[in-house]
Amino acid sequence: MSLLMPTVALASMTDIRPSLLRELKTDAILLDVDNTLAPPTSHIPYEGVQEWIDHIKSLGIHIVICSNNYKKRIKPFSDSVGLDCVAMSLKPFPFGFNRAKRKLKEKPQSVLVVGDQVYTDVLGANLAGMKSILLLPRSEEHGITIRIRRKMEVGVRKKLTLWNEGDNHGNQ
Ligand SMILES: [Mg+2]
Repeated sequence: MSLLMPTVALASMTDIRPSLLRELKTDAILLDVDNTLAPPTSHIPYEGVQEWIDHIKSLGIHIVICSNNYKKRIKPFSDSVGLDCVAMSLKPFPFGFNRAKRKLKEKPQSVLVVGDQVYTDVLGANLAGMKSILLLPRSEEHGITIRIRRKMEVGVRKKLTLWNEGDNHGNQ
């Protein structure tokens, strides 16, 4: 079960505060796109996401988008928010995370993966030796495979406590 547990669980991207990143000793962040930064297929980020990206970058933390979606979806989105990207990451397999890690020249333990899915983002981070933040999915989802993965996530999500500012512990 522990391979499926994120380091921290939060409601949304904009809840990731610099104080938490310091606590997690984060030097670089790998971001999922669909249902994390924007609704699936949309090129418009959720409210506050662009400001969050700009602020975190200004603190000297590197950010790379790491998505399982196609390059034609991910590259224009990444360009529009001002980030480098790895498309077709094949999460939870380590290929995409390793490509991103080489771009960043960081050790896995200082890399934080942020996403909305247990069986891609969180499992992939744990297999790669990286920390992770699991978010709540924000948009409605229609595909059959995502519905199955969401059902599989229920047991994990029940065990999670959403992290609050001032807490000094995550879920691991
Ligand atoms: Mg996603």
